[in-house]
Amino acid sequence: MISHRPTRAEIDLAALIHNLREIRRQAGAMRSVLALVKADAYGHGAVPVARALEAEGVDMFGVALAEEGVALRAAGIQTPILVLGRVFPGQEEAFFTHRLTPCLFDLESARRLQAEAKQRAATLDVHIEIDTGMARVGFSADDLENVLQALRACDRLRIEGILSHFAVADEPDNPFTDTQINGFTEILALIEAHGPLPRHVHLSNSAAIFSRDIPACNLVRPGIALYGALPSAHFTGLDLRPVMRLVTEVALIRDIPAGCGVSYGHRFVTARPSRIAALPIGYADGYNRLLTNRGEVLVRGLRAPVAGTVCMDWTMVDVTDVPGVEVGDEVTLLGPGPGGCISAEEWAQEVNSISYEIFCRIGPRVPRIYTREKGVSA
Ligand SMILES: *Cc1c(COP(=O)(O)O)cnc(C)c1O
Repeated sequence: MISHRPTRAEIDLAALIHNLREIRRQAGAMRSVLALVKADAYGHGAVPVARALEAEGVDMFGVALAEEGVALRAAGIQTPILVLGRVFPGQEEAFFTHRLTPCLFDLESARRLQAEAKQRAATLDVHIEIDTGMARVGFSADDLENVLQALRACDRLRIEGILSHFAVADEPDNPFTDTQINGFTEILALIEAHGPLPRHVHLSNSAAIFSRDIPACNLVRPGIALYGALPSAHFTGLDLRPVMRLVTEVALIRDIPAGCGVSYGHRFVTARPSRIAALPIGYADGYNRLLTNRGEVLVRGLRAPVAGTVCMDWTMVDVTDVPGVEVGDEVTLLGPGPGGCISAEEWAQEVNSISYEIFCRIGPRVPRIYTREKGVSA
């Protein structure tokens, strides 16, 4: 392989482990942790992230797709893996051959897995998801008696977990979260009337971990908090560290007079003699085109604004007010850098999105570079 251009995403695994410890501290030692590594660990790289978390003794991983689980197994990950998405027809076999745990929310999938288990003379641990108000996936609470009866007929599926998912936990004061907790607690009581509860009872995403204590639950499901971003702007004062830094270097500098248009459409026109730096990163790398004339980067400890349209492979920034900029200077587009931090929340606000999407969209042609530098106190 030839060496790549200087654009890269640095992933600080020490920060990841620090965040895991903060989550454990908040959730309490008696609760297990299911770490979400779906969507390539929110763009951070599922395999290196899962390896680092496995070494810390995380109890389970969560992925969205069976194929994401298969990729983790191929990389040697041994920890149980819960597949939160649906078991699509044709995927049944993978759950047995790669030891994946399905999350069930429709009986049709349950029956297909039961048939596969029977054929293999095997059993399969499953989790069942109940809809308590998200209206996405999950068995309807009203239908629970019938569902439990139908699942009892699937004698090769062992219910190892029960879960639900919050719709508005990112708004900590929203009482609907309590409505969902109460609904889930009632469901647990109903199940307990038939027999013991499954081994894992879980409800909390990152936002709920940091805003609710739910005595009935013994496992938590953090995602975004592991990566050091906030579930929403309502959460302040958390000791979470950004895991990803998106960086590049100044590739070219141009001094142009006042009245010059910059980049496609000349959406930026210099108001004064200006120094414009070209950065080798663009929307194909996940540097959102909506950052045109809006984004800011850190260079030489100062903020410099994006000048004009973000291109597919290039972005120009106005460095007129940054003394001494040279070709090869490091530029921070996301995360902590000299002189400050471009938070995922800040970037998300500029493009009317959330931190999650910013991370997920950092494209595959941006290499992830893993560091464990900043020693974390044990
Ligand atoms: C993605 C996901 C989570 C994690 O959510 P965060 O807000 O990132 O903590 C938890 N549970 C389910 C079902 C999910 O799909």
